[in-house]
Amino acid sequence: MLAVALLLCLPTLVFPATWIDVDVTCPVCGTANVFKVPASFGTYVYQDPSRFQYVFWPATTDTFLYTCRRCHLTAYMQDFAEIPARKISELAAMLEREGSFEGAVVPYYEIPMAIRLKIARNVYEVLERDDEFWCEFDRIAGYHFAESGQASQAHRARAGALARAEAILERAADSQRKELLVIVGAMRVLTGDIVGARQALDHAEPLVYAAPDRDSAALDQFLSQLIRDFKTEVLSGQRY
Ligand SMILES: [Zn+2]
Repeated sequence: MLAVALLLCLPTLVFPATWIDVDVTCPVCGTANVFKVPASFGTYVYQDPSRFQYVFWPATTDTFLYTCRRCHLTAYMQDFAEIPARKISELAAMLEREGSFEGAVVPYYEIPMAIRLKIARNVYEVLERDDEFWCEFDRIAGYHFAESGQASQAHRARAGALARAEAILERAADSQRKELLVIVGAMRVLTGDIVGARQALDHAEPLVYAAPDRDSAALDQFLSQLIRDFKTEVLSGQRY
């Protein structure tokens, strides 16, 4: 979620998203890989329909989840080279046990997302991420399962994201509740609870988002617009 706030701080850019090749050495097995990295993008990505899933470019692409061609270490592009040294041996053992799959491994972005998400889930379990991380991971997983027509897996992931968001909401400061309620609303829509979704969005609407480490004003404005868009474009009966 932090990435969203950082990107929202940037001035509005109008050129299309482009990707270039980058050489990345796998921190687990030392193999050199060629991955894609964004060279440019526009803030229009925050108007993509995926905002109604609270999933944002580049997580909507098939290039953002890197997989090592040898050991199959799989992680978000911003995490891949930043694996903590103390976790390397545990990850190597897990990948040895659970990282194999059939089919070609080059180029990485042609490996089905379902395969990469499964390995990434195991990787992040070793890395012991928090509820906020898993809430976003499951939203991203839900997005990609739905895109590839795997409806039951998409539903399971979104139900997981909803449970995480509701758990975080229980202990959240008032200043953080607006974003969490939008996520709860989005996941309720996607899991078929339209009445519950409207309740969450109604609760979110008068709140103001504030956090010390993010651009609160920009994010608050974004959330307010998103709530209005939900009500006019989604809850009024249109599909997305
Ligand atoms: Zn590797």
